[in-house]
Formats: sequence, C-alpha cells, structure tokens
Amino acid sequence: MNRQRQWEDRLFTEGIGIIEREGAQRGFKRALLALYEQQMRSWPELAVASQKLESAAGRTLGLDGRALHLQHNPARITNVTAPTDAGEIARRPCPLCPPNMPHQQKALPFLDNWLVVCNPLPLFKQHFVLVHGAHTPQSVAKILPAMIEFTRLTGFITLYNGPRSGASIPEHLHLQAAPPGWLPIEEQLPQMGGREIVVDSRLPRRMFLDATDSARATELFAHTMRTLERFKTEKTDPEPGLNLAVTAGCEGRPPLVAVHPRKKHRPRCFYARGDERYVVSPGSADMAGMLILPRREDFLRLDQRKVESIFSEICLGPEELARVEQDLQREAQTDGA
Ligand SMILES: [Zn+2]
Repeated sequence: MNRQRQWEDRLFTEGIGIIEREGAQRGFKRALLALYEQQMRSWPELAVASQKLESAAGRTLGLDGRALHLQHNPARITNVTAPTDAGEIARRPCPLCPPNMPHQQKALPFLDNWLVVCNPLPLFKQHFVLVHGAHTPQSVAKILPAMIEFTRLTGFITLYNGPRSGASIPEHLHLQAAPPGWLPIEEQLPQMGGREIVVDSRLPRRMFLDATDSARATELFAHTMRTLERFKTEKTDPEPGLNLAVTAGCEGRPPLVAVHPRKKHRPRCFYARGDERYVVSPGSADMAGMLILPRREDFLRLDQRKVESIFSEICLGPEELARVEQDLQREAQTDGA
C-alpha cells in the first residue's frame, strides 16, 4: 500500500470541507476542533483517556523561582520509558504509520506534508500530534515554518522533541500541539523589546527567538543549530539535543520560538535503582513547565531540590548558554550589516 492510500482512508472529510469553504486562515482552527469533537464521540478509548486527565492529580513546585506543574499521568509510562536503542525501535511496528494506528483515528491534512491527529494518551485536553506523511526519522531540519504556521492559525503551542531529547517515537517525524492555558511557559515569556534573541538562563534554560517573520526566524534558528553543534552529547548524534516550543505570545504579541538546549536525554535518577530511581524523562512539555510523572511515588515525593537538580543536569549550563548567545549576537550583527 503506498503512502497516500494509507492516509486516504483516515482523512477527516468534514474538516477538509470546512477549510475548503472558509480557507485555512478562518477555517483551520474550526476544522481542528471539529476533529477533536468527532474523535471524542467515536473513539471510546480517547474519551476515557481525556476523562482520566480531568481527574489527574497535579501540584506546583518552584523551579528557579518560577512555577513547575507536576502531572501524575500513569497512562504515559510507555512513552516516558520508551526504548532509545535503535535495534529495539526497529523491531516494533511504528505507532505513527497509519496501518498501526487505532482504527477510529482520523487525520486532518495540514500544509503539504503533515496530518494532524488526536494524541491517544493526552497530556492536555485537545492534545494533537502533527504526523509527517512519510515514515522519516525525527529531525529538526525544516520543521520550524510548519510549527510557526500551526501556532499562528490555532493559537496552540507547537512542540518538538529531539530524537535524543524526549521523543518516544524517534523513528517517525512528528510534532505535538498544546492548547493555551496548560503550559507555564506562557506566563514566562520575555519582553523582547525589539531584540531578535533573548536568553533566559533560569531553569529550564531557554533562548527565545522572535518569530514575527517566519523566514527570519528560520534563519536565526539555523544559526542557533550551528552554534549548538559543539555541545552535542555524542559526535554521532544526528543533531544537538533540544526541545522547541513555538508560543503564540500573550495577547497581541507575535509568536516566539523557545529553544531549550539539552545536555542530556535522561537524568541519572532515571537509571538508578530502588529509592534512588525516579521515572522522569523530560520532553518538550516538561521543558515548557509541565513535568509528567507516570508513577505515583515520584509524583508524591519530588521536591524543589530534586527538580532543580534534574533540570540542571539535563539543560545546557549557564556558561555554555552565554557563549551561544554571544555567537548568535555576533552572527545577527553580521546579517544586519
Ligand atoms: Zn512510521
């Protein structure tokens, strides 16, 4: 079966109709929400998962003086402990290829190469996954314009996990989308004050790139990736460790790209035994301020000191971040000259 045929059977025709009638600018978000409603009605497991989410335990801790939400979400255990070994990944059926998806799952086409589906194990109400039409590995190259456009059309936060930075299905390119109101990062956006790059060195350390102009944001991001190359954990890694969040900004503010450079895929305590073990494997939602904890014991005992040590271990250090910033400012000046 070829790629197009595989997806054809899953297309959400009602949503495609809305976009055809109203255009993407007005109709895309309506089509997206219609997809969610349709899936909640026709896919009982999704409805149950969403209901459980509403009663999920949560609490807030301080992380470097800001809010970090903890979410106890037992259903995420397989994602949080997903194998990272290439052999193990190759042996399993790809969950993002249509033949292996739940039969009720429908897809809304987005731009040329993407299909939007509902996440069967949501972290938020209305949690979407943008799946690439082809089975191609997770890679940061060329995804930024799609992220910016999705956020621009919907107001959702679009998220990316690097293949070695929290992605649980690194073999198939995908993005996540979170509705506004769930992720603390929305409350932690900087005043850009006309600057293109702002570094926030408090945990979880971030760099913000102005995304008012998608083409310029893509250029700045390419600089950022080049600058981060030297901090790769392993020379053989396909790309520097990172998570991305494209935020809509607050009322009336242009979209911002938050880059979370990573030093490590998982903290030491993930691999420890006995009481030392914490099942924590941060991805883009965690870096945006919502830590997902599948085990109740971790949810109950994590404290501010422990989360600060986990984030210090996985985020790029403050000195390295300052060097990245200097390099970027220099390149930006060269561009402007
Ligand atoms: Zn696949």
